[in-house]
Amino acid sequence: MDTEQKFAKRETVLSIMNKRILATDLDGTFLHGSEQDKKEFYAFLQENRQHICTIFVTGRTIELIKDLYLSDFNFVPNYIIADHGTVIVHGSNFEPLNSLQSKVVVQWEKLDHDQLLKLLNNESSIVKQPFHPPFRHAYYYQSELIKDRLVPKIEELGFECIASSGIYLDILPKGFNKGTTLLHLLDHLEVDHRNVVTAGDSLNDLPLFKTGLASIAVGNSEVDLLNKVSKMSNVFISKHCGVSGIVDGLANFRWLTV
Ligand SMILES: [Mg+2]
Repeated sequence: MDTEQKFAKRETVLSIMNKRILATDLDGTFLHGSEQDKKEFYAFLQENRQHICTIFVTGRTIELIKDLYLSDFNFVPNYIIADHGTVIVHGSNFEPLNSLQSKVVVQWEKLDHDQLLKLLNNESSIVKQPFHPPFRHAYYYQSELIKDRLVPKIEELGFECIASSGIYLDILPKGFNKGTTLLHLLDHLEVDHRNVVTAGDSLNDLPLFKTGLASIAVGNSEVDLLNKVSKMSNVFISKHCGVSGIVDGLANFRWLTV
């Protein structure tokens, strides 16, 4: 890294150090709510960009996020952690954060994918999802029984499984999920963890909440998630859904008054 690059990085870090960071899931969370509530909340974040950095932390692929931008959605986050923590890009141009992305790639390339696919191809209760994310295997599952029967076999091969919403089975390189990747990004940005709030609605957001960061489970959260977070002191469970739940949670954490 030459001096100019170092200086550029330092500028970025300095500008972000004193900011609050909202790290939010998309579907069911940041994208959920009435059009009016969403419009007002996105405008609030836009007006306060100097003070609040937004990170999308989603199971969506980059292609599905790009589709979002083809609609009338017009909020640009600072960073995007996509594919359940396996893809990390800048929010403005989808350029990867190479120093973090390379860690995922190294781990992914170490794994025996042929052996995994052999195991999965013999399994009748799962079906491949119709897209090809670069660093995860994405399936639908039909029976909760896979959690005791199939998941341990997948984990033995060095993968991490996230089963959520009673339908999605995501298979990730071990050590990478929404929570661990967010922590890597916060370290990269040299952020004080006390300035961070996460938000989500389903079991695939549990790794976010397990970081210990202040977190919001929105009111429309999956029941299994609520059961798991009910005794986690860092998680505020809002009665309000989607963006209204985020606003309620941010008020609880004294980011704003409502
Ligand atoms: Mg969600």
